[in-house]
Amino acid sequence: MDEEIFIDCNQKTLDLFGCTKEEIVGKPPYEFSPKIQPDNRPSKDKALEKITNALKGKPQRFEWRHKKLNGELFDAEVSLNRIELGDKTLLQAIVRDVTERKKTEEQISMLAHAIKSISESVCLTDMNGNIIFVNNSFSSSYNYSDSEIIGKHISILLSSDKPGALLNKMLFDTLKEGWNGEVVSRRRDGTEFLTSMSTSVIKNDNDDPVALITVAMDITDRKKSENELRQSKQMLQLILDNVPQRIFWKDVNSKYLGCNKNFANDAGFSSPKEIIGASDYDMPWKTSEADYYRLVDNEVMETGKPVFHIIEPQTHLDGKIAWLETNKTPLYDEHGRVVGMLGTYEDISERKKAEEQIKESEERFRSLIDNMIEAALIIDWTGEIIFANNSAARLVGLDNPEQGIGKSVFGFLHPDDKKRVLKAISKTKFKPAPFLDEYKIKTVDGKDRWVESLGTKINFSNKNSLLVTLRDITERKYAEIELREAKEKAEEMNKIKSNFLANMSHELRTPLVGILGFAELLKDKLKEKPTTEMAERILTSANRLMDTLNLVLDLSRIEAKKVDFNLKPYRIPELVESQIQLFEAVAERKNLFLETKVKDQNLFAKVDEQIFRQIINNLVNNALKYTYTGGVSILVDTTSGDDKPYVRISVKDSGIGIPQESLGLIFQEFRQVSEGFNRHFEGTGLGLTITKNFIEMMEGNIKVKSTVGSGSTFTVMFPLIQDYAQVEIKKASEVDNEKFTQKILAPGEKPNLLIVDNDESSRDIIKLFLKDLFKMDFADSGEKAFRLVNDKIFDIILMDINLGKGMSGVETTKEIKKIESYKNVPIVAITGFAMRGDREEFLQAGCTHYLSKPFSRAKLIKLLSEIAPVKKTDH
Ligand code: ADP
Repeated sequence: MDEEIFIDCNQKTLDLFGCTKEEIVGKPPYEFSPKIQPDNRPSKDKALEKITNALKGKPQRFEWRHKKLNGELFDAEVSLNRIELGDKTLLQAIVRDVTERKKTEEQISMLAHAIKSISESVCLTDMNGNIIFVNNSFSSSYNYSDSEIIGKHISILLSSDKPGALLNKMLFDTLKEGWNGEVVSRRRDGTEFLTSMSTSVIKNDNDDPVALITVAMDITDRKKSENELRQSKQMLQLILDNVPQRIFWKDVNSKYLGCNKNFANDAGFSSPKEIIGASDYDMPWKTSEADYYRLVDNEVMETGKPVFHIIEPQTHLDGKIAWLETNKTPLYDEHGRVVGMLGTYEDISERKKAEEQIKESEERFRSLIDNMIEAALIIDWTGEIIFANNSAARLVGLDNPEQGIGKSVFGFLHPDDKKRVLKAISKTKFKPAPFLDEYKIKTVDGKDRWVESLGTKINFSNKNSLLVTLRDITERKYAEIELREAKEKAEEMNKIKSNFLANMSHELRTPLVGILGFAELLKDKLKEKPTTEMAERILTSANRLMDTLNLVLDLSRIEAKKVDFNLKPYRIPELVESQIQLFEAVAERKNLFLETKVKDQNLFAKVDEQIFRQIINNLVNNALKYTYTGGVSILVDTTSGDDKPYVRISVKDSGIGIPQESLGLIFQEFRQVSEGFNRHFEGTGLGLTITKNFIEMMEGNIKVKSTVGSGSTFTVMFPLIQDYAQVEIKKASEVDNEKFTQKILAPGEKPNLLIVDNDESSRDIIKLFLKDLFKMDFADSGEKAFRLVNDKIFDIILMDINLGKGMSGVETTKEIKKIESYKNVPIVAITGFAMRGDREEFLQAGCTHYLSKPFSRAKLIKLLSEIAPVKKTDH
């Protein structure tokens, strides 16, 4: 080149540029270049710069992009050198086409780039193991920068006790055919990780090994998931081997692909592996069984549908036949094609045996129930009849039990009891206890029957149901109803009896006032025998009649429960002694001794004084009555019974005694030891009955011991009051004493008395009894009495309660009490109604005192003397 112009060139140059010499000489090089070079500089500027530099004596060597004559571009390496040729300074340009080299370089660079950026770690070493190259993945995996690792020996990357030995082996194998394996690698910070490594030799064109390439991959995660997979596989195997179910799977030809341990056992193999490839015909089962298994396998695989709950037999090695419940399911591949089947089964031999036993026992149970005399039904909880026996059919009038099956049991219940039974049944469902009831049912022909029924929860045909047994109790029920009616009637009769007795006693009392009163007056009046004796006999007889009346009245009081006790603590010996006194005369007359022995004067018990006296009377009276020689002794002491102390009163006689067989009888009403026409003794047979009742009503008891011919002992006990210092003890009242009244009625102005009574005899008797002591007016009706009290002021009124027609005594008293001036006037109620409760009514009406009919003169005078106002005498 001269300056920037080509002046000559060789043939190679012409080939390169694709032109003739004429076409190139005289032209500058930039004419054979693109306008712009790859570094973006204009070719002309760059060329001139290079030329200038070269001319200055600085040889230039650079890459240049040229253009052939036909416009094709190519890369060239250009060197410009100044040459002196004579005096001329020329430039020699050598252009070398580097297109191929460039391509190779680019490829290498690309390769290097690729190696740099692939995820596997790549490392190149020389034949001595010194690292000459690592890619990005390598340096980041091992945590070294390029500069830190290049030049180092590869052994620093390996974690091994003897990395030298490992390396020798690696090298040996690599040179032979390459090496690969798992190696524990070490990072810069010393931490280790598992890598899969492969090494191979890099050879030059002459096939000489020049370097080694190592590719390493971090397999920590892969190892972990491999481990996990292995573990889960092991777990699956463990599960398979430990479930009680047998599990197996087969291919499309029904050849076994696998199974669990339990299945292998059944098939007589020691491990599941041994079964692979075998068919059912290689198993201990019978050919017929294997045929059947195969049949179902095919069906499952052909239809692609699972089959469940196949009950089938399976013969084992030892000849035992097991019963299986098998499920078979087709197995599909990822394309949905059937590739085999999975089977599971359970050995249900035990269950089947139990079921058979249940069935057997159910059949036995059925035949038992079928033949039972009692009716039996099994119903479900809706009341539907599941089973009925012959007796049940008979009970409701069906020809056979089948006619009842499926029907509701409620259709057979009587409307009266339907609801109740329904409730009882539904309760039984939730309670373990059976229900027992009596109710009415309706037979198919509409008849009512009474049944006694027991409902028990049972398990029938594997269902929770109710067994109902029924017994026809219609006859018994009617008998019961009759009995109840009879009892009610008896009670009614007894009530009528009590009322009758009460009325009778009232009706008899009123005339007795006359009989007793007149007899008493006659006895006083008459001086000569035998008329005095007659009067006395009338008096005795009337008294006996009155005693009987009193007993009858007491009995009706007890039965009507109208006895109201006035219970107070008394010194019992004192009460006994004062009562016994009354019998001294009788004993003397019969020439019998009568003694009272008291162990302790301080024995207290809570009793009603009047009733207690009546009890003692009755016992002592009987004792004297039935004794002819010897006498009667009364003992008061204490005893203990049922852990409590008692006061004991024993009345012992030396009389005729009571036969053993009659001892239970004498306390029954109207019963006597000698009864009927050959009765030896007078009496009503009521005394002991009433006594016993009274004693028991006061929490005491009575016993009797007796020997015929030598005497009887009646023992009465009352609970003893131990701490008697604490209680207020009542004093026994004085015994009636006739003389006593006469003292009271002092002479003076006679009080005014109004006697209201519709019975003439009663009025007359009172008139005679009181004639010297009172001024008297009489009224035979309430109305008349009311008129009289308005005319005159009376000091005392004697008011009969039963006045027959018109106002009663109670009404009259009420009216009188309304009059101001009668507010404080005593009114004595006189009545034959000697019931205790009645007294309250009289007192409430305004009566201030009470006297029951018949009364003796003494009793009447005593009462009146107590209430009569004291009036001044005329003197
Ligand atoms: P009664 O009015 O007949 O005496 P009770 O009920 O007092 O009635 O007595 C029933 C019967 O018990 C008497 O009829 C008599 O046979 C018998 N009895 C009662 N006390 C004695 C006794 N102390 N000795 C023998 N028999 C007695």
